[in-house]
Amino acid sequence: MNARIGVIGRLLGVLLVAAALVVFALAGTRRLGMLPRRAGDSGPPNLHTGTAVADLGPSGGLDEASGSLPLATGPDAARGPAAATGPGAMPTIVGPVPPAATPVPTPTIDPRRIGLIPGHWGYDSGAVCPDGLYEVDVTVDVALRTQAILETRSIAVDLLEEHDPDTPQAPLQGYRAAALVSLHADSCTPVGASGFRASRWPYSSTPAADDRLLACLYDRYGAATMLPRHDSSITIDMWNYYAFREIHAETPAAIIELAFLGDDREFVDEHRYSMALGIADAISCFLDGG
Ligand SMILES: [Zn+2]
Repeated sequence: MNARIGVIGRLLGVLLVAAALVVFALAGTRRLGMLPRRAGDSGPPNLHTGTAVADLGPSGGLDEASGSLPLATGPDAARGPAAATGPGAMPTIVGPVPPAATPVPTPTIDPRRIGLIPGHWGYDSGAVCPDGLYEVDVTVDVALRTQAILETRSIAVDLLEEHDPDTPQAPLQGYRAAALVSLHADSCTPVGASGFRASRWPYSSTPAADDRLLACLYDRYGAATMLPRHDSSITIDMWNYYAFREIHAETPAAIIELAFLGDDREFVDEHRYSMALGIADAISCFLDGG
């Protein structure tokens, strides 16, 4: 009897030691699980794929350069939409296809293209001098000379005809360019006045640009011709010039009376190149930001 009890006691002792070892081993596993993971360690398994989730690093997997998640690669990524097919896949709902939007070209202004209106060209003669000189002959001549000078500076010039002021029409209607200048000349009858003057539309959408164009005209045309300014004779026909209302709202514009055909007649006959150079220099000044 005592021997049997001794055997049972040893067995119980062995079982207790084994149980203690199991408890110790479980406690050790839990402690290891609380240790911080080292970089490169695999994390917990992903329940959806059964594969370990890679350590995404401090950015949480975001592409630090673009701020976007990296594109998936590998066989799963290659499947694409084909994975949604099959008996249990959701049917693809096809709705009405919206019409493709017609791309609207962005209007652009050629920064090196300007318009010149030789006053009265294509419409009437303008002032008619007693000796047969027409204002339009002077304005067309100066405009052609100006065009020639500007083209040597890689500035394209549109020569635009005038038309009935009461009927808006092409090419002035909606005309868009880096600038527009209309050239006119003043009275054939000597009135005791000499010089030039320029104006712009007071209701312009580009008043700052118009003022800069005016400043260039006064400065450069005055320097090239040495004619005095005659601002006091600016009339409603100048500042309310019909073309100002027809051209595109973003086209800076001005009108200039080049000289008096009566009192400045000698100058006008002999210095057409200087007149054209003054207009060309004014336009270059404006386009160059002067
Ligand atoms: Zn005129």
